[in-house]
Amino acid sequence: MTHQARKRFGQHFLTDQNILAELLGEMRPKPTDRVLEIGPGLGALTAWLLKALPHLHVVEIDRDLAQRLRTGPWKDKLTIHEVDVLKFDFSQLDAPLRVVGNLPYNISSPILFALLDHADRVQDQHFMLQKEVIDRMVAKPKEAAYGRLSVMLQAYYDMEHLFDVPPECFDPPPRVMSAIVRMVPKAAQERQAIEHRTFAKVVSAAFSQRRKMLRNTWAGVVPSDVAHAAGVELTCRAEEIAPEQFLAVARALASTPAAG
Ligand code: SAM
Repeated sequence: MTHQARKRFGQHFLTDQNILAELLGEMRPKPTDRVLEIGPGLGALTAWLLKALPHLHVVEIDRDLAQRLRTGPWKDKLTIHEVDVLKFDFSQLDAPLRVVGNLPYNISSPILFALLDHADRVQDQHFMLQKEVIDRMVAKPKEAAYGRLSVMLQAYYDMEHLFDVPPECFDPPPRVMSAIVRMVPKAAQERQAIEHRTFAKVVSAAFSQRRKMLRNTWAGVVPSDVAHAAGVELTCRAEEIAPEQFLAVARALASTPAAG
């Protein structure tokens, strides 16, 4: 039975086997790994993962696709979580967890932010995304793509853009270029030192108007003495400030009485 791709679920199914082989070559799953695939769809990546793994967890929102997997050739090797990944409780799976998927592009940023809360339990993440999003994830200060997503994710992960995937590798082809990224959570000590709430607030405010000076965007959020104590000039713009500098400001702010 053929499956009609559902736009609302961002369904673009990978058909190019070379891309899948290359992704598996980068990920190198071992039989003892605990792996979760987000959005298995028709199982293109699932089939490759199951060549290396005796068992796999999958999260799929589409009822028809979940049913196919339940009755398909790999049914005994899969634990199928038929649920919206944004509502999925990642903590129900034992750590360390390896997460992989050709993500639904319409909700890729919310998925990345949801996983931030579970970085402690994750070994690594390999994701196919729009290339434009991966460019933003790995961008450096002063580059056009550098923004809130770059700062927030670079504080928590080491990330590497592995390779690009052109539209013709999918059915139906997406309108944009895709790429694959590897994300490895930074050492626990480094991540746990982050004042997450304050950090998120400082970064959001700074990039609310990226061309404006921090003096304006941080008004009412970061007092000037706190910015100075962290070594950040208020005449700079957000796009000039490195993730470590944002972290220093968040630390200084969180340790200021009545702020943070
Ligand atoms: N892995 C398959 C492949 O590479 O051919 C399918 C990838 S397709 C881009 C995205 C998959 O994620 C689809 O199977 C879609 O149904 C599923 N999906 C979309 N939104 C989802 C959500 N909120 N939660 C879980 N799965 C979702």
